[in-house]
Amino acid sequence: MTLENRQITTYVSCMSASTKDVTATLHYLSTGLVEWEDTPPDERVQIPQSLRLGLSRMYAAAVLSGKPIPTTLPEFFKSAASPIKSWWEPVKALSTIPDTATLIEDGLASDFAREWALSGKDSIHQIQELPLAKLKEFCERHQLDDSYRKARGELIVAQPVLKIAQLRKNIDTKELAKVRDFFKLDDEGFYKPVIDLFGGIEYRLCPRCKYIQRLWEGEYICRKKSCELIVRQKRLKNHIQIIPAAEINEWVGVTPGVHRYGTIPGIWELELRDKLLELGAKVTLYPQIDRYDLLVEFPNSQRWAIDVKDWSYVTKERLSKVSCQPGVNATFVVFPDANDLNIPAIRKRKEFQPQALKGL
Ligand SMILES: [Zn+2]
Repeated sequence: MTLENRQITTYVSCMSASTKDVTATLHYLSTGLVEWEDTPPDERVQIPQSLRLGLSRMYAAAVLSGKPIPTTLPEFFKSAASPIKSWWEPVKALSTIPDTATLIEDGLASDFAREWALSGKDSIHQIQELPLAKLKEFCERHQLDDSYRKARGELIVAQPVLKIAQLRKNIDTKELAKVRDFFKLDDEGFYKPVIDLFGGIEYRLCPRCKYIQRLWEGEYICRKKSCELIVRQKRLKNHIQIIPAAEINEWVGVTPGVHRYGTIPGIWELELRDKLLELGAKVTLYPQIDRYDLLVEFPNSQRWAIDVKDWSYVTKERLSKVSCQPGVNATFVVFPDANDLNIPAIRKRKEFQPQALKGL
């Protein structure tokens, strides 16, 4: 090996070590922010350990590199609402992080931070997500394909907030009656009385996902930033439904964790299903109890498996966990156009897509 080559090798390993460092620091910062948000305000005596660790790692790296970063906690919280690449130089080297990704959105941990956070067993959202996993397990054990499909598609995705009487009517139907225990208004169930979910006196439903909005800087907005952006793009603001105060005791809603991990991604799945149906394909939602999202069957006997990923960033590592499905001609991973992802392949595909879809 020549001296020149050796230098290059050393340089490359330094680069990857520093990229690894930045990635780990970002994991700590995201985890800390999510833990901070999921801790009830009266229990926030000190900042979470992972946030402290992330901040000190960021400071240490900044001292070495001489690049400026936010130096106090309030400064960090302020910067965290702007694109990470605008205030933290080393992140610019990570191409898989979208240029617009922030750690905080409208005062809450961003979708990006939530996905980037290391999973902690005590996260409130994960506990709320648990009924989804339990429903799947139960339906797998008892071979309840249709019950699963209806519970996810017709209730959790399409009606995250509804009147108790309406919920009862739904679970009295043949397929849903088989999974009725998941719809009891207790700690284990998907739905809870709306007044137990959030404080406040006025309840408004997002015109797109139909979930209870939150008040942020004098305006009611969706709890999910990506959904709120679509509401604005599609000018749906005039279609907000208000639950009359006198009726509030009659309404129930899914928990925020079920909304985030069940309702929101499900909207894309249902939209894609409807578009494919319009094109003349036969579509089955959540085949074999959610083995993947959509089974698409075309008149020419082609069969596709489609997984819709409502991700805010894509890496090779995340993609490698998606497996090709047996018994189909092709497996596709589909990303909603609205999620502005930095994927070169997607940019290229957009150029070819109109041609590729001809004759479908
Ligand atoms: Zn919404």
